[in-house]
Amino acid sequence: MIRINEVKLPLDHSEVALHDFVINKLSINKDQLVDIHVFKRGYDARKKNDIYLIYTLDITLKDVDEEQLLTTFANDHQVKASPDTSYKYVAQAPKDLTERPIVIGMGPCGLFTGLILAQMGFNPIILERGKSVHERAKDTFRFWRTRELNTESNVQFGEGGAGTFSDGKLYSQVKDPHFLGLKVKQEFVAAGAPAEIIYVSKPHIGTYKLVTMVEKMRSKIIELGGEIRFETRVEEINIDDNQVTGVTLSTGEVIPSKHVALAIGHSARDTFKMLHDKGVHLEAQSFSVGFRIEHKQAMIDAARFGKNAGHPLLGAADYKLVHHCKNGRSVYSFCMCPGGVVVAATSELESVVTNGMSQYSRSERNANSAIVVGISPEDFANDPMQGIALQRQLERNAYVLGGSSYDAPAQCVGDFLAGKTISQMGDVEPSYKPNVKLTDLSTSLPAYAIEAIREALPAFNKKIKGFSNADSMLTGVETRTSSPVQIKRGKDYQSINTKGLYPGGEGAGYAGGILSAGIDGIKVAEAIALDMLNA
Ligand code: FAD
Repeated sequence: MIRINEVKLPLDHSEVALHDFVINKLSINKDQLVDIHVFKRGYDARKKNDIYLIYTLDITLKDVDEEQLLTTFANDHQVKASPDTSYKYVAQAPKDLTERPIVIGMGPCGLFTGLILAQMGFNPIILERGKSVHERAKDTFRFWRTRELNTESNVQFGEGGAGTFSDGKLYSQVKDPHFLGLKVKQEFVAAGAPAEIIYVSKPHIGTYKLVTMVEKMRSKIIELGGEIRFETRVEEINIDDNQVTGVTLSTGEVIPSKHVALAIGHSARDTFKMLHDKGVHLEAQSFSVGFRIEHKQAMIDAARFGKNAGHPLLGAADYKLVHHCKNGRSVYSFCMCPGGVVVAATSELESVVTNGMSQYSRSERNANSAIVVGISPEDFANDPMQGIALQRQLERNAYVLGGSSYDAPAQCVGDFLAGKTISQMGDVEPSYKPNVKLTDLSTSLPAYAIEAIREALPAFNKKIKGFSNADSMLTGVETRTSSPVQIKRGKDYQSINTKGLYPGGEGAGYAGGILSAGIDGIKVAEAIALDMLNA
């Protein structure tokens, strides 16, 4: 197959335009062209009234000597042989294997570690502290409605992990030479995700689809011989002479295994403490803190797409912004959710944490994203436990600022920039549930973060007209952007001081988002399988 990269066509190109382009480009006749497969489709909206679609195409030909054709195009960067993107299993478990690997956590990392191990015949045991996704959805929606928080079953904890109630964005900037991201997306499609997630450059799934997909993936793991236990918290990793020997559950039960994947996400603070107390090597890691900002989606669409706003191939517009401040801090937008809502994402009592989610349609009135300031380990004495303490302190402070009822503290951008305590809400109605309390956000974050955000918002307005409009809404606080901890692992994917412990995903500092956590989960599964075969 032949690949043609960077095929640029106007947004409203005709149906035959791709076909015509390929025939002209390769100098073939139409009978030689069997199929055009879109490997990727993105867009270039730098000029909002002159938007282009950018394709990567895989072309199936007949009666053409492909080697000869590639030689003809040897100096043309657009034309190459299509790479083999199929996933190859690294191992197959022998029939007499007695040890079962354990996977702690069933977010995207644990889900893919478990799935790939099951597909290779290793019969993993997956232990998840939260409930199955259906039950968990009930608990999470109940909290948003009634303020009753279940600390083991919420936005952070339960089957599907932290990204289940999310926009389900599926892109990442991690290097992926072996196309593991494609394997993740193919499994998602097999579980019911829209087929377009394979080829659009910024795919998203939306929260409701994610819930049913996770259920289907669970069934697949069980059919393949895996075992999944919900409401099963790992209380302790058992270690003997720097080698993992198994885990102890909250029920007191001990499950032996010399291969334990640790895919616990960034919010399992009790588990981080247990690991720290046990002497597993942890390091402090940078994270960011800030607010969710909301605008009318229509305003963002107009600013980004001009007269093309509303075009079905573009969907609701997103944005990505960064500003380097005079005080040395950087402020950036994070986890942007077009046409979505701000959600209450705490897993701890008397705390307020914001995040964002959307449906597949992205049809809610507001756009939201986190506007956050980077915090480095030097800000918390290079101590991983201090990073967690700082997050917790900000979340508890936000709870009090919001009126000690799980309402979130909020302020209009105009008031925030002017340093005014409260006026009224403008046109942008905050979407956070249960509710928001208008207040002064200037005490909700460290002074350097407030100073940086006050500088960044007007700067962002130069890139997206209307961004710092007085009625844009800020809701606080966003603290769980990434893990404040890294659980160091070596090239063999095992903890650098605890053999048999395989830290993976976002909580261990090796992923940031659903796709990269899934990719990391595959790598962890491969490492475990190879080590089990060698043992
Ligand atoms: P997690 O998904 O956090 O999973 C960890 C799992 O481990 C949890 O289910 C937890 O219950 C379990 N666990 C923890 N401790 C224990 C224990 N001791 N015993 C047993 N089980 C345990 N990313 C994107 O790419 N796109 C998005 O649109 C997006 N939106 C998001 C929206 C929200 C509201 C949130 C909260 C996050 C969002 N993210 C998004 C981030 C994304 O969800 C995470 O990056 C991803 O889930 C990390 O995967 P993980 O498997 O490493 O950890």
